[in-house]
Amino acid sequence: MRMDLPFYPLLLGPTPLHPLPRFSAWLGGAEIWIKRDDLTALALGGNKLRKLAYLVADALAQGATDLVTTGAAQSNHCRQTAAAAARAGLGCHLVLRGQPGDRPGGNVLLDHILGADLHWAGSPDTGPAMERVLSDLRAAGRRPYAITLGGSMPVGAAGYAYAWREMAEQARAQGIDFDAVVFATSSGGTQAGLAVGAGASHWPGAIHGISVDHKIPDLAAVAERLTQATAELLAVDRPHPVVVHDDYIGDGYGILNDADREAIFALARSEGILVDPVYTGRALAGLIDLTRRGMLAGRVLFWHTGGAPALFAYEKELFTTFTESP
Ligand SMILES: *Cc1c(COP(=O)(O)O)cnc(C)c1O
Repeated sequence: MRMDLPFYPLLLGPTPLHPLPRFSAWLGGAEIWIKRDDLTALALGGNKLRKLAYLVADALAQGATDLVTTGAAQSNHCRQTAAAAARAGLGCHLVLRGQPGDRPGGNVLLDHILGADLHWAGSPDTGPAMERVLSDLRAAGRRPYAITLGGSMPVGAAGYAYAWREMAEQARAQGIDFDAVVFATSSGGTQAGLAVGAGASHWPGAIHGISVDHKIPDLAAVAERLTQATAELLAVDRPHPVVVHDDYIGDGYGILNDADREAIFALARSEGILVDPVYTGRALAGLIDLTRRGMLAGRVLFWHTGGAPALFAYEKELFTTFTESP
């Protein structure tokens, strides 16, 4: 695997890898470990900083003055892009789905504190608003660098191929081997990077992407294309196959259900670790269900991709009693 892709130092070192003994005892049936990408270094962390380390380097190499990207109101990607832009001394423009006030607080507050300019698209499709922001910036003599939804372009996904390597080295140092990896997937970049990293090291286990919103045909096609492009960029011949599960979407993106709630409360009350209402709570709900159905066993790594700041935008859905907690 090509190792010399330029990066900008947004990550201050490896994130922890450790077991979850009390959560595993509560669940039964598998030994669960966690990779703490909720603890990447800037502005409350998350997986997007691993992508942005490479995207920001690319932007600076192209002489960019501003980062421009898009997402939902509670986008963790947008919040981390704002943090990366601040650290790199770049402007930041975020084109958010919907209207101001749609789901306030949480990441929207952090976007503002981090100094990003917020542009509300007024609709679910942010494409036209994104084009408008880019052309306005160019007309004003700026050089905007456009980052796709979730930072899921090959240069960004590469961050997760390198993350795989970091995790594999930590696992080796701790004398353990994982049978399976489970994580939350949506725009496909994390999945593509993990597939390339695991493929480069000929890892024999299974990677389970738990879709938080898209059905398999759509997400698998996107992830497959991105995996191939990322493999080419990093000169990896055979990326690892990635399994996508679309059984946990419920009523859709960001709409909490009881399984999401059970996962959020269970991990918090057994280990003191927070997962989020949109991505990692749902991925953990998938892990819980797959383990209960006997489809996951042995040593299973839950790759925490962050997102907990969105909890503060879901108070109404989470101030509920939950009786079966550990
Ligand atoms: C963006 C995000 C994901 C999904 O990553 P993709 O690379 O977009 O598939 C998972 N978890 C959290 C917390 C995220 O913010």
